[in-house]
Amino acid sequence: MQKSTSVHELIVPRWIVPIEPAGVVLEGHAIAIDETGTVLAVLPVADMRERYVAQQETHLPDHVVTPGLFNLHTHAAMTLLRGLGDDLPLMEWLTTRIWPAETALLSKEFVAAGTRLACLEMLRGGTTCFSDMYFFPDAAGSAAREIGIRAHLGITVIDLPTAGGSDADDYLDRGLALYDRLRNEPLLSFAFAPHAPYTISDATFDRISMLMGQTGLPMQIHLHETEDEIRREVAEHGIRPAMRLERLGLMGPSLTAVHAVHLDDREVAMFADRGVSIAHCPASNLKLASGIPRIAPYLDAGINLGIGTDGTASNNRLDMPSEMRLAALLAKGASGRADVFGAHQVLHAATLAGAKACGLDERIGSIVAGKQADLAAFDLSALDYNPIFDVASHLIFVAGREAVTDVWVAGKAVVRKRQFMSDGARAAEGRGASDIALWQNRMRSQLDAR
Ligand SMILES: [Zn+2]
Repeated sequence: MQKSTSVHELIVPRWIVPIEPAGVVLEGHAIAIDETGTVLAVLPVADMRERYVAQQETHLPDHVVTPGLFNLHTHAAMTLLRGLGDDLPLMEWLTTRIWPAETALLSKEFVAAGTRLACLEMLRGGTTCFSDMYFFPDAAGSAAREIGIRAHLGITVIDLPTAGGSDADDYLDRGLALYDRLRNEPLLSFAFAPHAPYTISDATFDRISMLMGQTGLPMQIHLHETEDEIRREVAEHGIRPAMRLERLGLMGPSLTAVHAVHLDDREVAMFADRGVSIAHCPASNLKLASGIPRIAPYLDAGINLGIGTDGTASNNRLDMPSEMRLAALLAKGASGRADVFGAHQVLHAATLAGAKACGLDERIGSIVAGKQADLAAFDLSALDYNPIFDVASHLIFVAGREAVTDVWVAGKAVVRKRQFMSDGARAAEGRGASDIALWQNRMRSQLDAR
């Protein structure tokens, strides 16, 4: 390597938690990013200066840099329904609040405005990729590209007509056309996202299964969220939902089960054996009183477990740092084992495990040479954050999303010193308040008219 090799940017933080190798905190190291947004090297600062000349150096003397956080499950556009129908159980919340509001308001414009707001909130809090399940994924994808965040777009399917599609085949046909058009967009990736077993027929599952074989796309679905859902499915199909998916040949490494709050021991073993991932959404599960999943046996079985916020109507934040803290606390409290879900394991869940669930772990999820530079910097200088004995543990139990100062997506600084850098993000921020007022007023007049 020649001494004068030029790199696009050198990031020099106090600490780096690269996720790979596991359990490591690097001090006195730097990250070199090349012109294509790829991590070129992670090396001690002195070695880095020997080898490279940086066009730009970013010094972060009180910061820890991690891979950008991966929100494994959300409904981004629902930011416009934030806090609608609090304190209701899942089915009543869906049928009396969320679905009527969506019936009245759902459109491309609604999804674009809501997703823009979600992208801003997530980026500010260190999230650089989100797996989305919502209608009009074309509008969500445009919003994400505009702002400069990575999006894993669900081709969302439900056996109900909405403004987003007339039936399951229509949702799938539109989604596939979108996939064909945008499959090479660098910040976008795709998945099939059937809503839940109770809203999807066997025939629709069969078509999705065939399309997964043809396209190689993964699948994400709400599964075993509540005991009530399982009871209803047993009454209708004679078997529990996960066993129904097993019978349909869908339990495999391409599947991410969202929630998986209620799994019996046999199902835990089946998930592990088939390589099914879980998107754990602790705040949503608590808020909708769905239950507390038994994270300890899931991890003991070796299940790939990522973390998601779910939508803002059931959370009501898109706040991955607070979700990590809650996930860690719940796993310990529910198992009676303080050693369960340690800090490095939680960080892995919120980064690389999410990427793996979506088939993106070759590209993102850890800070290693050859991967895309999707990064988040947390400033740990505040008095409230000190003293610091264990940086990884601090990221889980002390630092909130307010600590995030700088965020890169594919090597591009999208947030610097808490300010948005891209034109798209600035424009979205500028129009955010008027977007919210517009849609809140529309919803109020729709609800008044009912
Ligand atoms: Zn959800």
